[in-house]
Amino acid sequence: MPTQQLQQPTGWSTIPVLCFIRHPDDVIRCTLHAGHDGDHRHSYTRRDWPQRAGETQAD
Ligand SMILES: [Zn+2]
Repeated sequence: MPTQQLQQPTGWSTIPVLCFIRHPDDVIRCTLHAGHDGDHRHSYTRRDWPQRAGETQAD
């Protein structure tokens, strides 16, 4: 019986830093990496919306 080992990508335990800005008219949050350029985007719903000045993750 062959030995099968689960391959874990390097750095898997590192929590990715997300933008996580909330959509102004919805409860979805941006799933792009923090400090990204361009519009915010929610990957699951494939919706995107423009960045606004002064927005925070706690919004
Ligand atoms: Zn964003």
